[in-house]
Amino acid sequence: MPEELQKDIIKVIALIHIKINKKLAQKTINELREDNVIDANYLIKHDNNYVYIPVKMPLKNYEIIDIDGNRKDDNNTKISFSYDVIGDMAIIKGKTENEVNYLAKELIKRKNIDRIYLDTGISGEFRTRSLKLIYGNDKKETLYHENSINLMVNIDKAYFSPRLSTERLRISNEINENEYIIDMFCGIGPFSILIAKKTKCNIIAMDKNPDAIELLRANIKLNKLKGDITPLNGDSGELVKNYNNVDRIIMNLPHNAYDFLDVAFKALKTKGIINYYEICGLDTLEKRMEFFKNSGFEIVYKRIVHGFSKYMSMYSIEIKKI
Ligand code: SAM
Repeated sequence: MPEELQKDIIKVIALIHIKINKKLAQKTINELREDNVIDANYLIKHDNNYVYIPVKMPLKNYEIIDIDGNRKDDNNTKISFSYDVIGDMAIIKGKTENEVNYLAKELIKRKNIDRIYLDTGISGEFRTRSLKLIYGNDKKETLYHENSINLMVNIDKAYFSPRLSTERLRISNEINENEYIIDMFCGIGPFSILIAKKTKCNIIAMDKNPDAIELLRANIKLNKLKGDITPLNGDSGELVKNYNNVDRIIMNLPHNAYDFLDVAFKALKTKGIINYYEICGLDTLEKRMEFFKNSGFEIVYKRIVHGFSKYMSMYSIEIKKI
């Protein structure tokens, strides 16, 4: 990477690694290199039995685990830009023009990408992105495949990020038959659709953004689902008051979910689960843990989903009502 790109940049931790038996490692590395999915900014790690290969996205047919990656140039000041590939488009973030140009040139080489947008920030209540087209023809809609589902995405109209795909897979594997679930900030439905694809259950999926709910309806039709999803457009702080005895509530609104915890607590049954996401620093995280315990919850799971800034990360916290 050119020297100038390595200055003054944000830390991005590669969390997703493929865990592979040592004996199969070299063959797998060769195959993944051909497919261009190894995250070359990070080191391949190993222990006595396994090799851990950093990848740019979760891949089917491999065991995926989340561990902190070690950058090849491991020095907190020499960190890079980031990008997401959604269907046939790439969305990139970079602090400097050099970074953006460098990354765009690399991505254009990929056969599956035909347009590239620069993301200048996610904002507003609907968490939509400000985008600038820097390569290809402007088309904000795309079809995205994740785990075993297809999603119609429109990055202009409604929030979508592929970065939570491992979380979605983890939670979808936990669901029991006939679970009664509320997806409080469902967006275009990536949690709800994957859960309902795999398990017969009942999901109430809420979002304030009417375009997100319209896309969710399209995504329900697009996938063959075992479970039922009821889309609701409105403020989930109000909508959720109509429900009680719920088995699980998914709260993916990482900057504000805390404000909705009181109504979620009331809707949840005893032994019910909340999957809570928050972007915060360690101080706030400590306070949340205390708050959950004092509110009658047991913490069953906690991990960093991804880094956000130097002092803040996105946390996944799973709590159970005692
Ligand atoms: N869960 C989805 C996903 O993983 O892609 C979307 C998550 S996005 C970070 C948060 C979503 O919450 C957005 O789609 C936004 O429109 C919605 N939202 C924000 N405030 C809301 C509210 N008060 N009631 C319902 N939805 C809200």
